[in-house]
Amino acid sequence: MYRTPASNRLHIGIFGKRNTGKSSLINAVTGQDTAIVSEVAGTTTDPVYKAMEILPIGPCMLIDTAGIDDAGVLGEERIKRTLVVLRKTDLGLIVVSPDTRIDNFELELIKTFQSKKLPFLFVINKCELEGEVAQNYLDQNKLPFIKISAKTKQGIAEFKTKLMEMAPGHWSPVPLLGDIINAKDVIILVCPIDSAMPQGRLILPQVQMMRDCLDNNALALVAKETELLDCLKALKKKPQLVITDSQVLEDVRDMLPEDIPLTSFSTVFARHKGDLNAYIQGVYALENLKDGDEILIAEACTHHVQPEDIGRTKIPTWLLNYTKKDLHYEVTAGGDFPEDLSRYKLIISCGGCMVNRGEIMHRIQKAKIASVAITNYGILMAYLSGILERVVAPFKGGVVKLDLEFDKVPRK
Ligand code: SF4
Repeated sequence: MYRTPASNRLHIGIFGKRNTGKSSLINAVTGQDTAIVSEVAGTTTDPVYKAMEILPIGPCMLIDTAGIDDAGVLGEERIKRTLVVLRKTDLGLIVVSPDTRIDNFELELIKTFQSKKLPFLFVINKCELEGEVAQNYLDQNKLPFIKISAKTKQGIAEFKTKLMEMAPGHWSPVPLLGDIINAKDVIILVCPIDSAMPQGRLILPQVQMMRDCLDNNALALVAKETELLDCLKALKKKPQLVITDSQVLEDVRDMLPEDIPLTSFSTVFARHKGDLNAYIQGVYALENLKDGDEILIAEACTHHVQPEDIGRTKIPTWLLNYTKKDLHYEVTAGGDFPEDLSRYKLIISCGGCMVNRGEIMHRIQKAKIASVAITNYGILMAYLSGILERVVAPFKGGVVKLDLEFDKVPRK
């Protein structure tokens, strides 16, 4: 994470009048989970950029706009500085105290956020104090806010979850492949064409992966599993990476020499959109399942259900074969995700190809708060095939540190 470039960080602009507790808010949010990796301080009135790791959001760039509301700063100058920060902001926070009177300072910010279509949130800090001036105004004007106390830490966990939900859809701190491949690398993409594939086109994750190879000046070769060996023979040297659809993971594993790095589309996306470490830890819950345990299959969209649907048919069959237990399943789709997760022993999330990282991370965070194991389709399939370690190995040198403790729980 320490080498996450600034461009891959979620830029959070923090605005607010003096004495609303912007700095204490930053400290409370980052807490012990935070590693300050760089700090570029300007003058006392210039914004301060802090590259930080905020768990579970990931690498962020906090822009502390201390001084922008200084009485001594002329209006024009203040606007100029604010606009410079806003140019880099993915998400804006306006910090107020319970007794803050919302005036032109905040109203101008709201106007600018809205004109730039930037998500923003009022943070009523110091909620341990008396006063409802700010909240009354925000309620009346239907402006989004959250109440927290940087001092007592009240509301901080909810605040972090809110930040993840608000993060723009395009934002992810983890690239698809950019941190693990190099220019001129040969990447083979194995794309089976079966009855589940749409007519005449590829599916979104495959297309995104090809585009990412091109963006990173790598050479993307596409083949079905049936032509994989021909593809390897046609190459003068071994490919740097093979990425396969999980449905043919075992076939590809059997064909591919051990020294060729192998992963799956769903593993790439599990890391890009979710928390690969949480999924790896979560999949071990399979070893402790008992008869009658409830499993939640969480699908992020309401796709057309196929006869051999992975969530409804294949996974229950695989788990019955693996665990030999009588497990009970609940399937949710689209925006439905249960508020109360306590009855589940394991949550199995889909790949989330149709939703943004914020949505998936929100689910992972809720599972963590409820102490319920969570994994996803791709990681589960790799685990059941006995090749989880191999498919996550290509990411060891990536921007996310992997907790690879495969020997902790013996597989059956
Ligand atoms: S992986 Fe999830 S989001 Fe993508 S099509 Fe399947 S259910 Fe929908």
